[in-house]
This record gives sequence, structure tokens and C-alpha cells, in this order.
Amino acid sequence: MQSTMQDVPLLISRILTHGSALHGTSQVITWTGGDEPHRRSFAEIGARAAQLAHALRDDLAVRDDDRVATLMWNNAEHVEAYFAIPSMGAVLHTLNLRLPAEQLVWIVAHAADRVIVANGSLLPLLAPLLPHLKSVEHVVVAGAGDRSLLAGAEGVQVHEYEDLLAGKPTAYDWPELDERSAAAMCYTSGTTGDPKGVVYSHRSVYLHSMQVNMAQSMGLTDADTSLVVVPQFHVNAWGLPHATFMTGVNMLMPDRFLQPAPLAEMIERVRPTHAAAVPTIWQGLLGELTAHPRDVSSLTQVTIGGSACPPSLMQAFDELGMRVCHAWGMTETSPLGTVARPPAHAVGTEEESAYRLTQGRFPAGVEARLTGPGGERLPWDGESAGELEVRGPWIAGAYYGGQDAQPLRPHDKFSEDGWLKTGDVGTISPDGYLTLTDRAKDVIKSGGEWISSVELENALMAHPAVAEAAVVAVPDDKWGERPLATVVLKEGASAGFEDLRAFLADEGGIARWQLPERWTIVPAVPKTSVGKFDKKVLRRQYAAGELD
Ligand code: ADP
Repeated sequence: MQSTMQDVPLLISRILTHGSALHGTSQVITWTGGDEPHRRSFAEIGARAAQLAHALRDDLAVRDDDRVATLMWNNAEHVEAYFAIPSMGAVLHTLNLRLPAEQLVWIVAHAADRVIVANGSLLPLLAPLLPHLKSVEHVVVAGAGDRSLLAGAEGVQVHEYEDLLAGKPTAYDWPELDERSAAAMCYTSGTTGDPKGVVYSHRSVYLHSMQVNMAQSMGLTDADTSLVVVPQFHVNAWGLPHATFMTGVNMLMPDRFLQPAPLAEMIERVRPTHAAAVPTIWQGLLGELTAHPRDVSSLTQVTIGGSACPPSLMQAFDELGMRVCHAWGMTETSPLGTVARPPAHAVGTEEESAYRLTQGRFPAGVEARLTGPGGERLPWDGESAGELEVRGPWIAGAYYGGQDAQPLRPHDKFSEDGWLKTGDVGTISPDGYLTLTDRAKDVIKSGGEWISSVELENALMAHPAVAEAAVVAVPDDKWGERPLATVVLKEGASAGFEDLRAFLADEGGIARWQLPERWTIVPAVPKTSVGKFDKKVLRRQYAAGELD
């Protein structure tokens, strides 16, 4: 029997139209580094997104399915591009500006990007790449920056963003697209092998945004201002630009000012209520606030994800009045896969912090299962550890194969019945809370037993002298692999390896056989393009004898 309901496609243009009309006075506030941040209302963003779509269609001849890339920081123009490009039927491709040049060139060619919208401040990065970007016909430059850098660009037309928009109609007859068609694409950072392209649909973005807005997820309202530190090129800034347009949450965008000092200043001056970023950003901010205290009392909710949130970090933020909410996700999961809001019965009890330290509970829409080494299903008993597999309407079922090619479904990434194999190892409690022990490739296999690198790192980062700690597996003749602890000390602090070992055993509760015997002090832990510990680089440095 057919339902009697209307079949209205879930389109990004509907999110834009809703946000710019019903939450027209909400704002995108972009930090400029100057005295006053730049403010643009959702109504203005809606009008300018329409102008951008007209310009892309009429002046640049962008047509269905054309890929329009962005090489931009988090700012108002990037939000306009976020809505204009998919709403008109083209595909938004956010480029990760921290990737090595050769990966960016590979990704642009693979996606066959025809247009790049770039911030002027990123032209020093873009200009030398441009001769290698064969598919690119147009570059649109937004914001301050030295245009002369593009002077020698052959075969590429350069446009001014504001000139393109000027005089264009402020409304657009957004097409009724198929909700399953491509809206946006994002490549994983390619830690192993070539980067892989994930293509989001209008429907997946729409449903994911509704999930972000659920009270048990981020649950923000038009009374909130969210400091979106997580880059718009990192899995759609965790869905915030779309989710905020559904509910009227103001967005504070840091543009290129991502260092701890300007972040602290913008929190004090603009007074956001919520913020989202990876743990390394929060570690940096914590150091800054300890050295130079500021009034950050407006910020009461902090979403941390991307890598495990060390308990010491959660505690330190709790003490500052910022309640941390831990979340897990991947490029392939749009990204929100779990959010660690404790169940009502645990709130105010001793169990509460244990729940908050898990990666979180799966929301409706994300199904999960654990698979053991032999392919067997493991129970949700909070003890059996296996690889996490997920499926749902905002979870990737394949990677982009390239123009005219079939989608890619590598066996190590997708099960035969179509579930995404996350590569993350952990347990699930009977009430559906996920605890990750490691990434499958980071776990330390010592004498047939597994040592969790994350557990060692969390325990080390609780030591008062330790600013950061990353633990990687290194080859060992007797045990196969053993942990190597790389430690960054806080400024002016000192600690011997024996002290740290004793601390791990006594305070961290780490079993003796798991304690690292190899240690090294480094000035900083190398980071990936999205700010996570880059363990691949550490392993390489160790193999090259650079970490002794
Ligand atoms: P990349 O694979 O390039 O790092 P992603 O941002 O997609 O890009 O990373 C996803 C991975 O990040 C997950 O598979 C998981 O290993 C890790 N991750 C994300 N959130 C958390 C978290 N809260 N705790 C532990 N690991 C996390």
C-alpha cells in the first residue's frame, strides 16, 4: 500500500530558504583579526547565495553535476558557497588546504573540479598549484589577498567574487532536484594510499543536519552562537553550517585566526555559547587560558571529536565551566556517528563521567555492529572488542570512483552486505554506548595481546608536566611490537621517564606489561591536515632513527 504523504525531496535549498526567511536575523560572524568582526545575517547570506548561483550559471556556465571546489577558511563567503553550489544542482567540493600540494593536485584532478572559489589569503598556496590543475577553468577570488600571484595563470579565467555577485538577482528559482543526487564531496586525508572521495547527497545532508539538531546531539537553538573551529573542509564542519540554518543558531567563524590567542580573544569578545573542534585545538586553548586568563564564561558547551578526548582535558574544561560533549565520526559518516550525552538515569551520579568519556551513543539513523577477527558478530556487553561497522542514511556505501567510473567498494572498507567497516576497534555497552580502544592500524600488538595507544596517551596526558603525548607501535624482536611514548612537556616543566612510567602504573592503572620502555621527548607531536596526531610520521621518524 502506498502512503498518503507528500513526496517533497529533502534538498539543501530548502534548508537555505528556511534559514534565510525564518531565521533571517541570525548571523554569520566572521573574525577579521581587527577591532570588529564582520557580521552578515542569514537573510543576507540567502540573498548572496542566490547571486552566487546566478553568477556561476550565467557567467561561468556551471551546469548540473559540475564540481565547484572551495579553497577557503570558515567565513561568510564559504557559507554562501556551501548553499549556492548544491542548491543550484552542482557539486560542492571542499578542498583541505592543509594537504600536501601533490595530494591536492591529485584530488582536484580526480574530482575534475571546473571552478575553484578561493580566499585571497590562500592565493600563495593556490598559485603554484594552478598550472597542474588541468580541469580548472575558473578561479573566483573572495576576500583580501594579492591577486598578482595569479597573473601568469594560463588557460584559467580569474574572477572577483564581489564583482560576480554585484547586480545579480537576490532570488533564485532553486531546481527540484533528486534528493539522492550528489550535493557535496569531501576526500579523506589519505593516510594510506590515495585519498578517497565521499559524495554526500542532499538527502544525507538534510537527515544528518536534523540529527545534529536533536537535543541528544548538539541540540542548539537560536539562543546560541556556535564557534565553528572545525574547518568547513573537514567533513562539512561536522554539519554545523546546515544544522544552524535549520534552527537559527548564530555561527562565529574564525577565518584564518585559528591560533589559541585569537580564539581566546574571539570567545571573550563575541561570547559564543558553543564550540566544536578536535582535541588538539582545545589543548592549545587550555594552555593559552592558563597563561593568559580571559572571560570565557559564555562558552558552556564544547563538542570534541575527531580523536579521543583525554579525560584530563574534559576535567580541565569542566573546571572552567565548559561542559565537554564527546562525539565520534568520520568523513564517511557525515560525520556524526555517536554523541556522548549520558542517559538521564546517570546524570548526577558517579556513572555520569564514565558515560561522558565514551565516544557516545548511536542516534536513531545509525546502526552499529562489532565484528571479531574471524568475522564473527560480537555482543554489546561493554567488554567484547571488535571492529565497528555502521550503516545508515548518512553513512557512505562506496567511494567516488572518478568521472564515468563505477563507485569503489574496497573489501577492507565495506562488508559484503554493504556496511561501512570503520577501522576503529572498540566495545559497545548494552545501552548502545561506544568505547573505542584504538584505530585498528594504531593498536599495539605485543606478544599476542593488544595494547591501546589511546589508553596510554590519556593516562600520560593526565601527568601535570605533560602537554601532549602520542604512543605508537614500534617493531620489537621479542614481542613483535612494543609502545613508544613520545612526550611533549609543558613549558618550564620537567619529568623523567621513570617518573612517567611510575605515574602510568600508579595513577593511570596501566598494567606493568603494557608500560612503554621506549620514550622520547619531542618539541611537538606532528599533526595531520585536520589536527590529529600523525602517527605515520612518528613511526617513520622512529624507523629513520630520528626519535632516539
Ligand atoms: P582521517 O581518517 O583522515 O583522520 P576522519 O576525520 O574521517 O579523517 O577521521 C575519522 C577517524 O577519526 C575515525 O575513524 C576515528 O579513528 C577517529 N575519531 C573520530 N572521532 C573520535 C573520537 N571521539 N575518539 C576516538 N577517535 C575518533
